[in-house]
Amino acid sequence: MIIPLAPRLSDAELNEIIEIAAEFGVGIQPIHGAQRSIYALMGDETAQELISRIEGLPYIDRIDRIQVPYKLMAKESSLAQHQITVGKRVLPGDFAVIAGHCTIDPNNKNFFYESAHAVKEAGADMIRGGVWKPRTSPHSFQGDAKSLDILLEARAQTGLPINTEVMDFEQAKICVDAGVDSLQIGARSALNYRLLQEVGRLTKGTNTKVLLKRSMHMGPISEFILAGEYIVAQGNPNILLCPRGTVPGMDGYRNHPDECITPLLKEKTWAPVIVDPSHSVGKAVYVPHAALAAVAYGADGLVIETHCNPKKGVGDDPKQAITPDVLKALISEARDLFTRVKKIKAVQAA
Ligand code: PEP
Ligand code: MN
Repeated sequence: MIIPLAPRLSDAELNEIIEIAAEFGVGIQPIHGAQRSIYALMGDETAQELISRIEGLPYIDRIDRIQVPYKLMAKESSLAQHQITVGKRVLPGDFAVIAGHCTIDPNNKNFFYESAHAVKEAGADMIRGGVWKPRTSPHSFQGDAKSLDILLEARAQTGLPINTEVMDFEQAKICVDAGVDSLQIGARSALNYRLLQEVGRLTKGTNTKVLLKRSMHMGPISEFILAGEYIVAQGNPNILLCPRGTVPGMDGYRNHPDECITPLLKEKTWAPVIVDPSHSVGKAVYVPHAALAAVAYGADGLVIETHCNPKKGVGDDPKQAITPDVLKALISEARDLFTRVKKIKAVQAA
Protein backbone atom coordinates (compact mmCIF):
# COMPACT_ATOMS: atom_id res chain seq x y z
CA MET A 1 0.00 0.00 0.00
CA ILE A 2 1.59 3.24 -1.16
CA ILE A 3 1.21 6.27 1.09
CA PRO A 4 2.00 9.58 -0.63
CA LEU A 5 3.28 12.64 1.26
CA ALA A 6 0.36 14.77 0.05
CA PRO A 7 -3.25 13.69 0.59
CA ARG A 8 -3.45 12.66 -3.07
CA LEU A 9 -1.08 11.95 -5.98
CA SER A 10 -1.22 14.17 -9.04
CA ASP A 11 -2.08 12.50 -12.35
CA ALA A 12 1.56 12.73 -13.46
CA GLU A 13 2.80 11.15 -10.22
CA LEU A 14 0.23 8.38 -10.44
CA ASN A 15 1.18 7.66 -14.05
CA GLU A 16 4.85 7.44 -13.12
CA ILE A 17 4.05 4.86 -10.43
CA ILE A 18 1.77 2.91 -12.74
CA GLU A 19 4.61 2.68 -15.27
CA ILE A 20 7.12 1.46 -12.69
CA ALA A 21 4.67 -1.11 -11.27
CA ALA A 22 3.84 -2.36 -14.78
CA GLU A 23 7.50 -3.31 -15.29
CA PHE A 24 6.98 -5.81 -12.45
CA GLY A 25 3.57 -6.97 -13.69
CA VAL A 26 1.88 -5.16 -10.78
CA GLY A 27 -1.18 -2.89 -11.05
CA ILE A 28 -2.08 0.18 -8.97
CA GLN A 29 -5.54 0.73 -7.48
CA PRO A 30 -6.24 4.20 -6.09
CA ILE A 31 -8.55 4.21 -3.05
CA HIS A 32 -9.92 7.63 -2.27
CA GLY A 33 -10.91 8.14 1.37
CA ALA A 34 -12.59 11.27 2.69
CA GLN A 35 -9.30 12.72 4.03
CA ARG A 36 -6.60 11.13 1.91
CA SER A 37 -5.94 8.63 -0.83
CA ILE A 38 -3.81 5.53 -0.73
CA TYR A 39 -2.71 3.35 -3.61
CA ALA A 40 -2.84 -0.43 -3.42
CA LEU A 41 -0.33 -2.57 -5.25
CA MET A 42 -2.21 -5.34 -7.05
CA GLY A 43 -0.32 -8.51 -7.93
CA ASP A 44 3.01 -9.77 -6.67
CA GLU A 45 4.13 -6.73 -4.74
CA THR A 46 7.00 -8.40 -2.92
CA ALA A 47 9.79 -7.52 -5.37
CA GLN A 48 12.27 -5.51 -3.32
CA GLU A 49 13.40 -3.54 -6.36
CA LEU A 50 9.82 -2.40 -7.01
CA ILE A 51 9.40 -1.29 -3.39
CA SER A 52 12.71 0.56 -3.39
CA ARG A 53 12.00 2.38 -6.62
CA ILE A 54 8.60 3.59 -5.50
CA GLU A 55 9.79 4.48 -2.00
CA GLY A 56 12.59 6.48 -3.59
CA LEU A 57 10.19 8.84 -5.36
CA PRO A 58 10.22 12.33 -3.80
CA TYR A 59 6.43 12.50 -3.31
CA ILE A 60 6.12 9.14 -1.53
CA ASP A 61 6.03 8.91 2.24
CA ARG A 62 6.27 5.12 2.54
CA ILE A 63 4.98 1.73 1.49
CA ASP A 64 3.06 -0.20 4.15
CA ARG A 65 3.64 -3.90 3.97
CA ILE A 66 0.94 -5.26 6.21
CA GLN A 67 1.37 -8.92 7.05
CA VAL A 68 -2.30 -9.90 7.46
CA PRO A 69 -4.02 -11.12 4.28
CA TYR A 70 -6.47 -8.19 4.36
CA LYS A 71 -4.04 -5.35 3.78
CA LEU A 72 -6.68 -2.72 3.12
CA MET A 73 -9.26 -3.73 5.72
CA ALA A 74 -6.68 -4.19 8.50
CA LYS A 75 -6.66 -1.95 11.56
CA GLU A 76 -3.03 -1.18 10.66
CA SER A 77 -4.01 0.08 7.19
CA SER A 78 -3.83 3.77 6.41
CA LEU A 79 -7.54 3.51 5.67
CA ALA A 80 -8.11 3.11 9.42
CA GLN A 81 -9.00 6.82 9.56
CA HIS A 82 -11.68 6.37 6.92
CA GLN A 83 -15.13 7.43 8.02
CA ILE A 84 -18.43 6.38 6.50
CA THR A 85 -21.64 8.39 6.55
CA VAL A 86 -25.01 6.77 7.13
CA GLY A 87 -27.44 9.66 6.77
CA LYS A 88 -26.26 12.25 9.28
CA ARG A 89 -24.24 9.71 11.28
CA VAL A 90 -20.48 9.33 10.81
CA LEU A 91 -19.02 5.90 11.52
CA PRO A 92 -17.08 4.82 13.46
CA GLY A 93 -18.01 7.15 16.30
CA ASP A 94 -21.74 7.55 15.86
CA PHE A 95 -24.40 4.87 16.12
CA ALA A 96 -26.53 4.25 13.00
CA VAL A 97 -29.78 2.40 12.43
CA ILE A 98 -31.09 1.07 9.12
CA ALA A 99 -34.72 -0.03 9.23
CA GLY A 100 -37.59 -0.91 6.94
CA HIS A 101 -39.23 -3.81 5.15
CA CYS A 102 -37.53 -7.06 4.29
CA THR A 103 -39.35 -6.89 0.98
CA ILE A 104 -41.25 -4.10 -0.76
CA ASP A 105 -44.69 -5.25 -1.91
CA PRO A 106 -45.31 -3.45 -5.22
CA ASN A 107 -49.03 -4.10 -4.89
CA ASN A 108 -49.21 -2.34 -1.53
CA LYS A 109 -46.79 0.51 -1.90
CA ASN A 110 -48.52 2.66 0.71
CA PHE A 111 -47.36 0.21 3.37
CA PHE A 112 -43.80 0.99 2.38
CA TYR A 113 -44.33 4.75 2.49
CA GLU A 114 -46.06 4.46 5.85
CA SER A 115 -43.22 2.32 7.25
CA ALA A 116 -40.59 4.68 5.80
CA HIS A 117 -42.11 7.70 7.58
CA ALA A 118 -42.57 5.67 10.76
CA VAL A 119 -38.97 4.41 10.92
CA LYS A 120 -37.78 7.96 10.35
CA GLU A 121 -39.95 9.14 13.22
CA ALA A 122 -38.58 6.25 15.33
CA GLY A 123 -35.04 7.58 14.79
CA ALA A 124 -33.69 5.45 11.93
CA ASP A 125 -30.90 6.92 9.78
CA MET A 126 -31.44 4.92 6.60
CA ILE A 127 -34.35 3.03 5.07
CA ARG A 128 -34.05 -0.56 3.94
CA GLY A 129 -36.37 -2.23 1.44
CA GLY A 130 -35.84 -5.34 -0.66
CA VAL A 131 -36.49 -4.85 -4.37
CA TRP A 132 -35.02 -8.16 -5.61
CA LYS A 133 -35.05 -10.98 -3.07
CA PRO A 134 -32.96 -14.12 -2.70
CA ARG A 135 -35.52 -16.76 -1.70
CA THR A 136 -34.84 -20.32 -0.66
CA SER A 137 -37.75 -21.55 -2.76
CA PRO A 138 -38.10 -20.62 -6.43
CA HIS A 139 -41.87 -20.57 -5.85
CA SER A 140 -41.66 -17.75 -3.29
CA PHE A 141 -42.05 -14.09 -4.27
CA GLN A 142 -38.73 -13.05 -5.81
CA GLY A 143 -39.23 -9.30 -5.54
CA ASP A 144 -40.05 -6.98 -8.39
CA ALA A 145 -37.88 -4.45 -10.25
CA LYS A 146 -40.84 -2.00 -10.08
CA SER A 147 -40.23 -1.70 -6.34
CA LEU A 148 -37.10 0.35 -6.96
CA ASP A 149 -39.32 3.34 -7.84
CA ILE A 150 -41.16 2.85 -4.55
CA LEU A 151 -37.87 2.83 -2.67
CA LEU A 152 -36.72 5.99 -4.45
CA GLU A 153 -40.05 7.65 -3.72
CA ALA A 154 -39.67 6.77 -0.01
CA ARG A 155 -36.30 8.54 -0.06
CA ALA A 156 -37.83 11.57 -1.75
CA GLN A 157 -40.64 11.71 0.83
CA THR A 158 -38.48 11.22 3.94
CA GLY A 159 -35.09 12.59 2.92
CA LEU A 160 -33.45 9.47 4.35
CA PRO A 161 -30.89 7.48 2.33
CA ILE A 162 -31.88 4.02 1.07
CA ASN A 163 -30.42 0.51 1.09
CA THR A 164 -31.37 -2.47 -1.06
CA GLU A 165 -29.90 -5.87 -1.92
CA VAL A 166 -28.35 -6.60 -5.30
CA MET A 167 -27.62 -10.14 -6.44
CA ASP A 168 -25.96 -9.57 -9.78
CA PHE A 169 -24.12 -7.00 -11.86
CA GLU A 170 -27.25 -5.87 -13.69
CA GLN A 171 -29.14 -5.08 -10.49
CA ALA A 172 -26.09 -3.32 -9.06
CA LYS A 173 -25.77 -1.21 -12.21
CA ILE A 174 -29.46 -0.24 -12.11
CA CYS A 175 -29.09 0.82 -8.46
CA VAL A 176 -25.87 2.77 -8.99
CA ASP A 177 -27.42 4.56 -11.99
CA ALA A 178 -30.48 5.38 -9.87
CA GLY A 179 -28.26 6.76 -7.09
CA VAL A 180 -29.20 4.21 -4.42
CA ASP A 181 -27.16 5.14 -1.34
CA SER A 182 -26.27 1.69 -0.08
CA LEU A 183 -26.03 -1.65 -1.87
CA GLN A 184 -26.56 -4.73 0.25
CA ILE A 185 -24.69 -7.90 -0.60
CA GLY A 186 -26.68 -10.66 1.02
CA ALA A 187 -25.54 -13.69 2.97
CA ARG A 188 -26.03 -15.91 -0.08
CA SER A 189 -23.87 -13.67 -2.27
CA ALA A 190 -21.13 -12.84 0.21
CA LEU A 191 -18.96 -15.62 -1.20
CA ASN A 192 -19.54 -14.57 -4.81
CA TYR A 193 -16.15 -12.96 -5.34
CA ARG A 194 -16.98 -11.84 -8.86
CA LEU A 195 -20.00 -9.92 -7.59
CA LEU A 196 -17.96 -8.36 -4.79
CA GLN A 197 -15.45 -7.15 -7.35
CA GLU A 198 -18.13 -5.89 -9.73
CA VAL A 199 -19.89 -3.95 -6.98
CA GLY A 200 -16.55 -2.53 -5.85
CA ARG A 201 -15.75 -1.45 -9.39
CA LEU A 202 -19.18 0.05 -10.03
CA THR A 203 -19.03 2.12 -6.82
CA LYS A 204 -15.36 3.08 -7.03
CA GLY A 205 -14.74 6.68 -6.06
CA THR A 206 -18.39 7.24 -5.06
CA ASN A 207 -19.99 7.73 -1.67
CA THR A 208 -22.09 4.57 -2.16
CA LYS A 209 -22.07 2.28 0.84
CA VAL A 210 -21.85 -1.51 0.60
CA LEU A 211 -23.60 -3.36 3.42
CA LEU A 212 -21.87 -6.72 3.30
CA LYS A 213 -23.69 -9.51 5.12
CA ARG A 214 -21.72 -12.39 6.59
CA SER A 215 -22.40 -15.60 4.71
CA MET A 216 -24.08 -18.24 6.86
CA HIS A 217 -21.31 -20.56 5.68
CA MET A 218 -18.38 -18.37 6.65
CA GLY A 219 -16.16 -19.73 9.39
CA PRO A 220 -12.99 -17.81 10.20
CA ILE A 221 -13.36 -14.10 10.87
CA SER A 222 -10.69 -13.47 8.23
CA GLU A 223 -12.96 -14.98 5.57
CA PHE A 224 -15.56 -12.28 6.27
CA ILE A 225 -13.00 -9.47 6.35
CA LEU A 226 -11.43 -10.71 3.10
CA ALA A 227 -14.85 -10.56 1.41
CA GLY A 228 -14.86 -6.85 2.31
CA GLU A 229 -11.28 -6.59 1.04
CA TYR A 230 -12.51 -7.63 -2.42
CA ILE A 231 -14.71 -4.52 -2.55
CA VAL A 232 -12.18 -2.11 -1.07
CA ALA A 233 -9.50 -3.43 -3.45
CA GLN A 234 -11.66 -2.24 -6.35
CA GLY A 235 -11.68 1.29 -4.99
CA ASN A 236 -14.63 1.61 -2.61
CA PRO A 237 -13.74 1.82 1.10
CA ASN A 238 -17.35 2.46 2.22
CA ILE A 239 -17.85 -1.01 3.66
CA LEU A 240 -20.24 -1.87 6.46
CA LEU A 241 -19.76 -5.40 7.81
CA CYS A 242 -22.98 -7.09 8.82
CA PRO A 243 -23.08 -10.24 10.98
CA ARG A 244 -26.55 -11.80 10.50
CA GLY A 245 -26.27 -15.29 11.95
CA THR A 246 -24.72 -18.44 10.59
CA VAL A 247 -26.09 -21.95 9.97
CA PRO A 248 -28.14 -22.90 13.04
CA GLY A 249 -26.47 -25.32 15.44
CA MET A 250 -29.47 -25.52 17.74
CA ASP A 251 -33.25 -25.46 17.50
CA GLY A 252 -35.06 -22.21 18.01
CA TYR A 253 -33.45 -19.31 16.25
CA ARG A 254 -33.57 -19.01 12.48
CA ASN A 255 -29.77 -18.82 12.31
CA HIS A 256 -27.04 -19.09 14.89
CA PRO A 257 -26.74 -15.59 16.37
CA ASP A 258 -23.25 -14.20 15.77
CA GLU A 259 -23.32 -10.67 17.13
CA CYS A 260 -20.59 -11.89 19.53
CA ILE A 261 -18.03 -11.68 16.70
CA THR A 262 -18.32 -7.88 16.77
CA PRO A 263 -15.37 -7.28 19.14
CA LEU A 264 -13.24 -9.67 17.08
CA LEU A 265 -14.06 -7.75 13.91
CA LYS A 266 -13.41 -4.41 15.56
CA GLU A 267 -10.05 -5.61 16.80
CA LYS A 268 -8.93 -6.60 13.30
CA THR A 269 -10.56 -4.12 10.94
CA TRP A 270 -11.53 -0.45 10.86
CA ALA A 271 -14.73 -1.19 8.93
CA PRO A 272 -17.85 -0.37 10.96
CA VAL A 273 -19.99 -3.29 12.14
CA ILE A 274 -23.75 -3.08 11.61
CA VAL A 275 -25.45 -6.13 13.13
CA ASP A 276 -28.65 -7.61 11.68
CA PRO A 277 -30.59 -9.20 14.56
CA SER A 278 -33.66 -9.85 12.38
CA HIS A 279 -32.21 -12.63 10.23
CA SER A 280 -30.11 -13.87 13.10
CA VAL A 281 -32.98 -14.83 15.42
CA GLY A 282 -35.76 -14.75 12.82
CA LYS A 283 -38.69 -13.89 15.06
CA ALA A 284 -39.91 -10.42 16.01
CA VAL A 285 -40.16 -11.13 19.77
CA TYR A 286 -36.49 -12.11 19.96
CA VAL A 287 -35.20 -9.17 17.93
CA PRO A 288 -34.89 -6.56 20.74
CA HIS A 289 -32.78 -8.98 22.80
CA ALA A 290 -30.37 -9.74 19.97
CA ALA A 291 -30.27 -6.07 18.96
CA LEU A 292 -29.25 -4.86 22.42
CA ALA A 293 -26.78 -7.74 22.77
CA ALA A 294 -25.15 -6.54 19.54
CA VAL A 295 -24.82 -3.03 20.95
CA ALA A 296 -23.35 -4.44 24.16
CA TYR A 297 -20.82 -6.29 21.99
CA GLY A 298 -19.76 -2.96 20.51
CA ALA A 299 -21.66 -2.76 17.21
CA ASP A 300 -21.62 0.59 15.38
CA GLY A 301 -25.20 0.13 14.33
CA LEU A 302 -28.11 -2.14 13.55
CA VAL A 303 -30.15 -3.11 10.51
CA ILE A 304 -33.63 -4.17 11.57
CA GLU A 305 -36.62 -5.35 9.55
CA THR A 306 -39.50 -3.10 10.52
CA HIS A 307 -43.01 -2.95 9.09
CA CYS A 308 -46.03 -0.82 10.00
CA ASN A 309 -48.26 -3.90 9.65
CA PRO A 310 -46.05 -7.03 9.70
CA LYS A 311 -48.91 -9.51 9.24
CA LYS A 312 -49.70 -7.92 5.88
CA GLY A 313 -46.06 -7.87 4.79
CA VAL A 314 -44.28 -10.15 2.33
CA GLY A 315 -40.98 -12.03 2.49
CA ASP A 316 -39.67 -12.21 6.06
CA ASP A 317 -41.85 -9.41 7.36
CA PRO A 318 -44.79 -11.40 8.79
CA LYS A 319 -42.50 -13.41 11.05
CA GLN A 320 -39.56 -11.20 11.93
CA ALA A 321 -40.36 -7.52 11.31
CA ILE A 322 -40.85 -5.45 14.45
CA THR A 323 -43.29 -2.55 14.47
CA PRO A 324 -42.18 1.11 14.41
CA ASP A 325 -43.20 1.66 18.05
CA VAL A 326 -40.95 -1.21 19.14
CA LEU A 327 -38.20 0.18 16.90
CA LYS A 328 -38.53 3.58 18.55
CA ALA A 329 -38.17 2.16 22.08
CA LEU A 330 -35.31 -0.03 20.91
CA ILE A 331 -33.37 2.79 19.24
CA SER A 332 -33.67 4.93 22.32
CA GLU A 333 -32.28 2.15 24.57
CA ALA A 334 -29.67 1.17 21.99
CA ARG A 335 -28.29 4.70 21.78
CA ASP A 336 -28.13 4.87 25.55
CA LEU A 337 -26.33 1.53 25.77
CA PHE A 338 -23.97 2.53 22.95
CA THR A 339 -22.88 5.55 25.01
CA ARG A 340 -22.41 3.42 28.12
CA VAL A 341 -20.31 0.86 26.24
CA LYS A 342 -18.17 3.72 24.91
CA LYS A 343 -17.57 4.99 28.46
CA ILE A 344 -16.41 1.57 29.65
CA LYS A 345 -14.12 1.21 26.63
CA ALA A 346 -12.61 4.62 27.39
CA VAL A 347 -11.78 3.51 30.95
CA GLN A 348 -10.23 0.33 29.59
CA ALA A 349 -8.16 2.24 27.06
CA ALA A 350 -6.85 4.74 29.62
C1 PEP B 1 -32.47 -9.50 3.88
O1 PEP B 1 -31.80 -8.59 4.39
O2 PEP B 1 -33.69 -9.42 3.70
C2 PEP B 1 -31.78 -10.76 3.54
C3 PEP B 1 -32.23 -11.59 2.61
O3 PEP B 1 -30.69 -10.94 4.29
P1 PEP B 1 -29.61 -12.12 4.31
O4 PEP B 1 -28.86 -12.01 3.03
O5 PEP B 1 -28.78 -11.80 5.51
O6 PEP B 1 -30.38 -13.41 4.44
MN1 MN C 1 -35.33 -10.44 5.04
